[in-house]
Amino acid sequence: MSTATHCPYCSLQCGMKLAGRRTPEVSTWEEFPVNQGALCRKGWAAAGLYGGRERLTSPLVRDRETGEWSAVSWDDALDRVADGIRAAQAAGGPDRVAVFGGGGLTNEKAYALGKFARVALGTSQIDYNGRWCMSSAASAGIRAFGLDRGLPFPLADVEETDVLVLVGSNLAETMPPAARHLDRLRERGGKVVVVDPRRTPTADRADLHLQPVPGTDLALALGLLHLLVAAGAVDTTYVTERTTGWEDVRDSVASWWPERVERVTGIEAHELRALAAMLTGRKVMVLTARGAEQHSTGSDTVLAWINVALALGMVGRRGAGYGCLTGQGNGQGGREHGQKADQLPGYRRIDDPAARAHVAGVWGIDPDELPGPGRSAYELLDALGTPDGPSALLVLGSNIVVSAPRATHVTSRLEALDLLVVCDLVMSETAALADVVLPVTQWAEETGTMTNLEGRVVLRQRAITAPSGVRSDLDVLAGLAERLGSTASFPTDPEEVFAELGRASAGGPADYSAITYDRIRDEHGVFWGGERLFAESFAHPDGRARMYAVEHRGAAEQPCADYPVHLTTGRVLAQYQSGAQTRRTRSLPDDGPFVELHPLLAGRIGVGPGDAVRVATRRGEMTAPAKVVPTIRPDTVFVPFHWVGANRLTNDALDPASRMPEFKVCAASVSPPLVEQRAPASVSKPRSSA
Ligand code: SF4
Repeated sequence: MSTATHCPYCSLQCGMKLAGRRTPEVSTWEEFPVNQGALCRKGWAAAGLYGGRERLTSPLVRDRETGEWSAVSWDDALDRVADGIRAAQAAGGPDRVAVFGGGGLTNEKAYALGKFARVALGTSQIDYNGRWCMSSAASAGIRAFGLDRGLPFPLADVEETDVLVLVGSNLAETMPPAARHLDRLRERGGKVVVVDPRRTPTADRADLHLQPVPGTDLALALGLLHLLVAAGAVDTTYVTERTTGWEDVRDSVASWWPERVERVTGIEAHELRALAAMLTGRKVMVLTARGAEQHSTGSDTVLAWINVALALGMVGRRGAGYGCLTGQGNGQGGREHGQKADQLPGYRRIDDPAARAHVAGVWGIDPDELPGPGRSAYELLDALGTPDGPSALLVLGSNIVVSAPRATHVTSRLEALDLLVVCDLVMSETAALADVVLPVTQWAEETGTMTNLEGRVVLRQRAITAPSGVRSDLDVLAGLAERLGSTASFPTDPEEVFAELGRASAGGPADYSAITYDRIRDEHGVFWGGERLFAESFAHPDGRARMYAVEHRGAAEQPCADYPVHLTTGRVLAQYQSGAQTRRTRSLPDDGPFVELHPLLAGRIGVGPGDAVRVATRRGEMTAPAKVVPTIRPDTVFVPFHWVGANRLTNDALDPASRMPEFKVCAASVSPPLVEQRAPASVSKPRSSA
C-alpha cells in the first residue's frame, strides 16, 4: 500500500509514492505529469531524514547563562513563548514581535502564518526567505504583465519552442528531471542557449553558451534587443496591439551596439550577433532564474529579458514567451498567501482598501485592525534588536544563519533579540541560537498543498507517521493564538485551512477559491488562473503588457585592487538550500563547501586542486578546498551556499523594487590561507542534535 505525494524539496514538486508508514520507501508515480516518474537523487533519498537521530522530538528551551538545553512539555514551551511575546509587545507595541517564514511551507501554513501575524500578533513585521528567491522576477512580472506566476504555462511547453534561452539557470543540476525537456527539444531540432558565467551541466546541453561577467545580464539583453531591432525581427503588430512603452524601450537600446555590450559583459560581439540571428524569425522562450535575478538590479534585468520576449511577440503564444524558474518547493504559493510584508492572501496588496476589507471579512475583524506593510526580509532581520526594531522573532521553515546575505551581521542581530523562537525538525544553525525550539512535522508526515513552478497546486499527502512528540506548525500557531487571547479561529486541519484560504483569496490575482483537495487528487494538480496565461490579454486593466526602458547599472560592488575577482554563489546537485535536511541525509554525499576557480586564477595565487583557498569580501571570509576547473570565467570564483560560509561573504545591497539582496555577485579576494589558517580547510558541518 503506497500513498501518492510529492518531494520535500524544489519547485518542480515531483510526484512520488511512499510505502511503509514507519520505514518509508520512495517509489515512482508515473502518472504525475510533471516528472512522469523521474526523480533526482535528492528525491530518491528523501526518506533518509525520517527517523534520523538528529530529529527533534521534544520542545527545548535554552538557558542563556549556561547555554544548556532542557526538554520541556509543549504547554510549558508555548506558555514561555506567549509570555515572551506579551512582554515584548507591552514594552514597545505590536511591531516588537516579528515573524519570518519560508518558501518551503505549505500554502496552508503560509496562509496561517500571515493571518497569525496580522490578527493574533497585530504586527506588520512579517516576511520570508522567498524574498531572497524569486522576488525580482515576481516584481518584474507584476509590472510587465500585471500578474506574477513563475511559469505562465506548463513546463513541458519548453519542448515546443524553437529556441530556449536560459538566463542564470542550472536546471540540469538543480532540478534534473526538468532537463529532459531540453533533451527532447534538441531531439526535435530546437536550440538551447544558456547564459551563465560557469559552464554547468545545463550549459553542456546548450547549442550556444554565453559566459558574461556576473551582474551584466541586463546589458546583454539590451544589446540583444538592439540587434533584433536592427534585424527587423520585432513583431510590430504584436507590440502595437498588445503592449505599451515600446518606443521608450526601442530608444533605450539604440546605443547598446555589440561592441559596447562586449566591453561591459565580456561577450564578444560575434557571439551576440549569433544569438540574435538564432532568435530571428523563430519561436522563442526566455526563462530566467536566480543567476539573473539575485542582484541589486534583478528586477530591471528580468524586465529587460521580458522586453526581448514581448518585442518578438512571444508572450502568450504557445511554446514561447517568458517565465521564471522558481526555486524553493513552494516558492510560488508561498508568495501568494500573505507571508510577504506587503501582501494579503490571494496575492492582494495589504495597502489596498478593498483587499483589506475582503480579507478582514473572512477573518472576522475590522479592516482597521489590520496592520500595514512591514519591512522586507533583509531589512527586517537588519532591524532585529535595534531600538526601533523587533525584540522577539518567530521563525518557521527557514535557516537564516546559513541563508541570509551578510550572514555574520544577521547572526549578530539574531543574538541581540530578547526572544528567538524557531520551529524546525532538526537543530539547524538558526535553531541553535534560539531560546525556544519547537519540533514540528515535516513533509509527508502531514498533508498540505504546494504550488509548483508552473502555478500547479499539488497535494502533498500525509503518507508516514510523525515521530511522537512533534506537532504541526498549524498546531503551534493555534496554540499560541489561543494563549494570546485571539478571538479569530486558527484551524489545524489542513483541508479546513485550505478552504478558508480559498475564501480569503477569492477575487484576488491568485484566486484559489475553485480549488479543492478532491480536484487536486482527481486532476493531478490544478493550475490557478488556468493552464496557460496571457493568450488573449494581460492582467493590467487595459489588457496590455507594459514594456519599461531599463538601464544597465552593474553590480553594486565592482572588483578593485583589494578585491579583484567576482564571487558568485549557487547550488550543487546533492544539496538543497541551507542543507538543514540534505546535509543530514546519509545517502546524500556531504563533501562540504569548495571554491571553484579557473586554472589561470589558481596558478596566479599558487593553489592546486584540493588546496585550501581563502575567499574574503568586505563582509567576511571563508576557507575551503579549491576545485580547479576550466569551465568558469578566470575572473570569477564560485562557492555553493549550502554550508555556513558563503553567505558570510555575500552582499546585502538590495534591489530597489523587489528588495532582493545581491547574492549572485560581489567583489572578493582569493588567496592561500593566511599562515595561522593553514590548518585543514574549515568545512562547516551541522551541529549535532540536542
Ligand atoms: Fe524533483 Fe526537485 Fe525533488 Fe529533485 S529535488 S526529486 S527535481 S522536486
